[in-house]
Amino acid sequence: MVRTHSSLAAAECQSRGKMSRMETLPIFLKLRERLAVVIGGGEVASRKVKLLHKAGARICVVAPELHAELEDMLSLAHISHVAAVFSPQHLTGAVVVIAATDDENVNREVSLAAQAANIPVNVVDAPELCTFIVPSIVDRSPLLVAVSSGGSAPVLARMLRTRIETMIPASYGRLAALAGEFRDAVKQRFSNGQQRRIFWEDVFQGPIGELMLSGQETQAREALQAATTGSGELHFGEVYLVGGGPGDPDLLTFRALRLMQQADVCVYDKLVSKEVMELVRRDAELIYVGKSRDQHTLPQEDINQLLVRLAKEGKRVLRLKGGDPFIFGRGGEEIETLMEHQVPFQVVPGITAANGVSSYAGIPLTHRDYAQSCLFTTGHLKDGSVDLDWPALVRTGQTVVIYMGLVGLPEICKQLIAHGAAPELPIAIVQQGTTQRQRVVAGTLASLPGQVEGAGLRAPCLIIVGEVVRLREKLAWFAPSPAAE
Ligand code: SAH
Repeated sequence: MVRTHSSLAAAECQSRGKMSRMETLPIFLKLRERLAVVIGGGEVASRKVKLLHKAGARICVVAPELHAELEDMLSLAHISHVAAVFSPQHLTGAVVVIAATDDENVNREVSLAAQAANIPVNVVDAPELCTFIVPSIVDRSPLLVAVSSGGSAPVLARMLRTRIETMIPASYGRLAALAGEFRDAVKQRFSNGQQRRIFWEDVFQGPIGELMLSGQETQAREALQAATTGSGELHFGEVYLVGGGPGDPDLLTFRALRLMQQADVCVYDKLVSKEVMELVRRDAELIYVGKSRDQHTLPQEDINQLLVRLAKEGKRVLRLKGGDPFIFGRGGEEIETLMEHQVPFQVVPGITAANGVSSYAGIPLTHRDYAQSCLFTTGHLKDGSVDLDWPALVRTGQTVVIYMGLVGLPEICKQLIAHGAAPELPIAIVQQGTTQRQRVVAGTLASLPGQVEGAGLRAPCLIIVGEVVRLREKLAWFAPSPAAE
């Protein structure tokens, strides 16, 4: 049978009939300079007034009395107060009405009056009296996300809103505003809608969007200007120097995770935990550049050059590092080379081992009674010796955190005592802190080397020296299950 156009349409309608119904139609209302009437003068009304004010409405609050906060808001432009009990004439000229009184009868009266006048009305916490719903909002103006459960489960809608909130970078609004500035120019350049769509996808997913999201607004605008006039590229390689934190993937920053999931290639080393590596985009090429203490799989200079080469091939290169890139991470050297070669990059800080490991081990780095300062140092110098500024390390009232100190531990304890530290000074060494493989061995300068000998500790290990180590017994809260390997 040959189907005619109308029978096709009928079939479509039928199948549509089976589609789930929407209880409401989400729309975004332009309220600038238009009259919104709020009935009620309490705290809830005050929240609604704030929201309407943000949307630029002229607001008239009808209530015999006002909550102090609302009273203060009357000084703002476009907010007025009618000190009276509600009557339908208060709705004259309104384009939207919100009832937020604690009197059910008044709320009902407002709803009926508004409906009789065909004015959209919302009654707080009474879905049956509403003709529209105020959604939960993620505000990245001009970008807005509204979530509603149609009044069935506002708490669920709010929880969903929170999840969306964490997924959308704070600067998305500025990105949208920038796009708005160039919308007409792009329209002129591409008359074809599909070309325009591809152009914008490239902008948002490519380096221009990334420049904007990392706060480099001027560069983003210049690059977009150039791309719009056809004199610049939409795709160019870049490097993300990202701190992956001490091991527990929950300690990644939002930005780190976002970049990890959009990289084309990931250059990583030994310190990045396997749990964190799991979160790198599956399709990304992985390049291991090693570095255990003695055996450098790839010399630093070669890593620097590798990053430049990959970025020049046009790739989004994730240089993923343990902890923070700028704390004993040689991040500085890597970006120096990138700058020399004019490769765009951004640096994303991570939780450094001192922060993450100490907190999971229950050792606060400072404490009013024990330590007023904290010093981070490395126990492994370039030439392999342990030659530190000992007098600075034995000062009282401070905590010393020693990175890369496992091998040098006996020498470190010996030298600290030789330079005047008490042999009973507490010290702890933490293996693979924040991961399921975390182990803490605590003792004193005199006892720890003996305790560690034969304990089979595995790198990475962090040493913490100072009175604060005593607090561990009181504060340790992270009890990892025994090493699951
Ligand atoms: N950029 C990293 C440090 C690199 S140096 C940071 O900011 O944390 C490598 C040293 O970091 C290791 O030798 C060890 O002392 C320390 N370290 C890193 N992660 C650690 C972890 N999960 N547990 C214990 N020590 C860690």
